[in-house]
Amino acid sequence: MVRIDGSLGEGGGQVLRTSLSLSLVTGKPFTIQNIRAGRKKPGLLRQHLTSVKAAEAVGAAEVSGAELGSRELTFRPSALAAGNYHFAVGTAGSATLVLQTVLPALLLAKGPSTLMLEGGTHNPMAPPFDFLQRAYLPLVRRMGPSVEATLERAGFFPAGGGRFRVDVRPAPLKPLHLLERGRVVRRDLKAVIAMIPFDVAQRELGTAGAALKWRPDELRTEELKRPLGPGNVLVAEVESEHVTEVFTGFGERGKRAEAVAGQVAEEVKRYLDADVPVGEHLCDQLLLLVALAKGGVFRTLPLDGHAETQLQTIAQFLDVKVEVREVSREVREVEVRA
Ligand code: ATP
Repeated sequence: MVRIDGSLGEGGGQVLRTSLSLSLVTGKPFTIQNIRAGRKKPGLLRQHLTSVKAAEAVGAAEVSGAELGSRELTFRPSALAAGNYHFAVGTAGSATLVLQTVLPALLLAKGPSTLMLEGGTHNPMAPPFDFLQRAYLPLVRRMGPSVEATLERAGFFPAGGGRFRVDVRPAPLKPLHLLERGRVVRRDLKAVIAMIPFDVAQRELGTAGAALKWRPDELRTEELKRPLGPGNVLVAEVESEHVTEVFTGFGERGKRAEAVAGQVAEEVKRYLDADVPVGEHLCDQLLLLVALAKGGVFRTLPLDGHAETQLQTIAQFLDVKVEVREVSREVREVEVRA
């Protein structure tokens, strides 16, 4: 039985989700205490509970402590089952995080799976759908399995109501080598609005477009039809020869459009200046896949708290060697070996 302290590193939901993913893949049962001890509202929230339920279904697991607010959980998987699944968070909590909890196991399962996921698709502090589709999944495909995601409706906090479909065809995970970004071949800055004044989108594009010096034909607005509630995100996509990265800022009440745009532009600039293929968020998500492949090397920015926490959690389940080398002030090379 693997024993996990949920207050590890960041002490957020990721320690739990990564443990669920790794327990499903390895078949090792685990028990976790102090779930999300590092957060203002500790314990299982709806999104985390949905991730637990999803993992329970995929791994035919025996689970105790799966209740809202719970700070302890024991999880014993029995058999991995590919198939058709429907997971609904029930609030605007992130549905992409629910997907990422069970995806590693389904990538390695015996047959194909189809998942319908409902909840938030564009949440702060979680991978937005655009990031999933344009940055994360293409790298999963490069490692072997085939995965396609289709957005049916976007869901923002607080209304939720987002929905997307994911089709998975498993294959063994191959090591990933991603040291170079290559030439930038396309740039796209998209201001998405749902029941929000058009002017907000224009101000975001104006501010971020000017800060990044991107051309007018690289900027666009997208007004969502039939949303359940209001929402606004600014999405910057940088497609390079060897990788695509996606950066997102979230509009919220009381936050000026210029501030949302400024933060996204800063993130993009930092990534472009460092000349690395993998940005901060992609790094912690990629670590899990590369560890499961038992091999790979990539260049990224200095590791943040999420990435460090991810490494600590991985070490509890997998016997892999991870080396993080400092190439320069803003560049790290991460290598994983069996
Ligand atoms: P909490 O415990 O507060 O509920 P959480 O469940 O949201 O936290 P975290 O531990 O904060 O989980 O992990 C969030 C995950 O979402 C991390 O893998 C992080 O890289 C990813 N993420 C956050 N923001 C973005 C973003 N803008 N783009 C892509 N991925 C993101």
